[in-house]
Amino acid sequence: MAETQILSGKVVSEAVYAGLEDRIDSLKSNHSAVPGLAAVIVGEDPASQVYVRNKTRRFSKLNLHSETIRLPEETSQEELLTTIHTLNNDPVFHGILVQLPLPKHIDSEVVIHAITPNKDVDGFHPENLGRLAAGKPKFIPCTPKGIMRILEHFHIDPSGKHAVVLGRSNIVGRPMSILLSHKQSYSNATTTICHSGTSDLRTFTKQADILVAALGAPEMIDDSYVKEGAVIIDVGINRVKDDSEKGYKLVGDVNFNAVQGIAGSITPVPGGVGPMTIAMLVENTVEATESLFA
Ligand code: NAP
Repeated sequence: MAETQILSGKVVSEAVYAGLEDRIDSLKSNHSAVPGLAAVIVGEDPASQVYVRNKTRRFSKLNLHSETIRLPEETSQEELLTTIHTLNNDPVFHGILVQLPLPKHIDSEVVIHAITPNKDVDGFHPENLGRLAAGKPKFIPCTPKGIMRILEHFHIDPSGKHAVVLGRSNIVGRPMSILLSHKQSYSNATTTICHSGTSDLRTFTKQADILVAALGAPEMIDDSYVKEGAVIIDVGINRVKDDSEKGYKLVGDVNFNAVQGIAGSITPVPGGVGPMTIAMLVENTVEATESLFA
């Protein structure tokens, strides 16, 4: 049985941070500009709290500026839009992220539309998604952008391969499928996108040279879905209850043990796609700052 290679996003993210050092120094010394991120979080969702903490912690580690704006669960949509308007006009912040999901009484689409596209470092604004679809991207959503970097780092060229993306969210699946099908280097794959309306998922996954799982379905993808030698990108971050002190563990959408020896390579959870999402958020914020001086 051939050994499955582990594609460490941690390793790739460290290379990204090393590559950003000179750019950050140059912004500071030539323009007195410190890339700044405003992270807005509404409510107390524990997973969201962890994500925002991890993101802002990285900004501190790199001596960049970040502020977390914590709003209570009962914040109205109007109040949130007012906050975003203020951040749009505050020159200290080059990037704004609103942590999703938002409480049910707030329409996240309206909120995302309110972020000025020039500070939309998550790449969720329709202008940025449209630019991506047209092949002229400005800010690319962090998770799919990070996945493309993992492929490049490990010299996995999707060109001519069949890439199958599971999930069609605007955050991961949809932009992922667009990126994989662009006519450019380290892309150019024949791309299939699957979702809950797909009948017989395995028909498609078994053909995948590159399989991206972004479902939110804990360990659903086992060996019965996977072609021998496939590259598996496990985007899922799912909390499942266990007996540990925390009371839960994190698992992906892929059953990691079941695909060992069948998959050619796989991103682990944690330590795979997650660190790259944060690295791309930093990179997009640096790019947003640089664009002021271009
Ligand atoms: P989402 O908005 O819930 O989208 C999930 C997609 O998967 C939907 O398109 C859904 O189909 C499809 N789907 C769900 N169950 C399915 C099934 N059994 N068969 C076929 N299709 C199915 O989720 P998301 O925001 O894209 O996130 C997906 C996962 O990635 C989650 O676990 C999330 O926590 C994780 N994530 C990780 C990172 C990271 O940095 N690693 C970043 C973002 C998200 P329909 O469209 O038909 O409903």
